[in-house]
Amino acid sequence: MDKMTLEPHYDDDCIFCKILKGDIPSYTVYEDNIVKAFLDISQGTPGHTLVIPKTHVKDIFAYDSDLAAAVFSRIPRIARAVQASDPAITGMNIVNNNGKVAYQSVFHSHFHLVPRYTDDDDFQ
Ligand code: ADP
Repeated sequence: MDKMTLEPHYDDDCIFCKILKGDIPSYTVYEDNIVKAFLDISQGTPGHTLVIPKTHVKDIFAYDSDLAAAVFSRIPRIARAVQASDPAITGMNIVNNNGKVAYQSVFHSHFHLVPRYTDDDDFQ
């Protein structure tokens, strides 16, 4: 696989790239030169956050190891920040869908951080 650049690269037709460019509003949780984390528009549980690479990459199959290391290494820190936002968060699901058959609906790779609350079955 060609070496990917860690510099942002946008796809004009991608909704998450439009968020990255500021053309569509989002509620930013965390941002640096590699990733942006923002609240999911459809909150599975309160605090449901998406972490995306700033460069357009379709799915997990398209990552090279440099981009994977850069993105994955940031996830625990962002997960801790989300957890710290509410003492009632007692767990977290981290979900990454790849391909239509796996329920991916936005084809810009993203990781769902879904906070879990004790007895949160009401959210399901
Ligand atoms: P699914 O829709 O089955 O969860 P994905 O794993 O591809 O599939 O998730 C895409 C996520 O992007 C959804 O949870 C959806 O609510 C979220 N989303 C779509 N548009 C926006 C937006 N403008 N701002 C924030 N989140 C968005």
